[in-house]
Amino acid sequence: MKNNPTICAVIGYPIGHSMSPAVHNAGYEELGLNYSYKALEFQSSLLAINEMKKRNYRGYSVTIPHKVSIMQYLKKINSVALDIGAVNTIVNENGILNGYNTDFIGAIRSIKEVITLKDKKAVILGAGGAARAIGFGLKNEGVELLIQNRTVEKAKLLASSLSCNYSGINPNLIKNYDIIINTTPIGMYPNEDMSIINDIPKGCVVQDIVYNPLETKLLRIAKKKGCKTISGIGMFLYQAVEQFKLFTGREAPIEKMKQVILEELS
Ligand code: NAP
Repeated sequence: MKNNPTICAVIGYPIGHSMSPAVHNAGYEELGLNYSYKALEFQSSLLAINEMKKRNYRGYSVTIPHKVSIMQYLKKINSVALDIGAVNTIVNENGILNGYNTDFIGAIRSIKEVITLKDKKAVILGAGGAARAIGFGLKNEGVELLIQNRTVEKAKLLASSLSCNYSGINPNLIKNYDIIINTTPIGMYPNEDMSIINDIPKGCVVQDIVYNPLETKLLRIAKKKGCKTISGIGMFLYQAVEQFKLFTGREAPIEKMKQVILEELS
């Protein structure tokens, strides 16, 4: 008889339609792993942790609203996740629960596919959870940062943790930057006709972490200016790829997982 599969899950509230089960399960199938991945809705982080221990789940992908509150229940948290102040991944090592953050890895890997980061300057538009993860990732790479946010006080707070400059959203201040990253939901379905900025300097690289639609208005404007662009699926794909490795110990079948993301989005 076939052994019971090792179970992983994405946890959140509400969990809605998450692409993660389709993406991870396709990866397991591709490699013939006896793993299964599902979506679980929990209102409280503690309930999610208790369930993980009770059912001996191998891994959790953690999403809103648990990324910060769940940290108190973990035995070990890796240093970058501690700096970021949020985990998006939990691995259950025989009852010991360890936390990681793969969001920043996903964002940085997708940027590095297009541009080297040495001696570069980047503007992050937004100062929420994703901005924080990407900010720490870029800081680790030695990138000079400017945080711009609608609520300037929040830009100031994030900039003080990153020891960098900040301002409100202001396209006039970003002219000499190499990389521009939108981490706000502006441009996301159903508001596809919106862009956080409309004036983009020529020659820079523009990343939008919104992935629905795949090509946001910001990216269309950037392309017209001759800029290289990075869509939001890169960050999503590579954070999942890193989780796959943490959960299974195997290299993820990247092309298969990417194909599933594109299918899900279409
Ligand atoms: P968050 O913590 O709630 O932060 C949202 C940020 O967007 C804040 O800085 C907020 O500014 C700004 N913002 C929201 N509405 C705005 C508006 N109307 N005008 C200007 N600024 C606005 O959210 P998050 O977790 O960082 O996620 C942000 C976006 O990234 C979401 O769309 C999410 O789906 C996407 N995301 C994508 C990936 C991926 O893998 N591609 C991963 C994570 C997140 P204030 O401070 O002024 O409120």
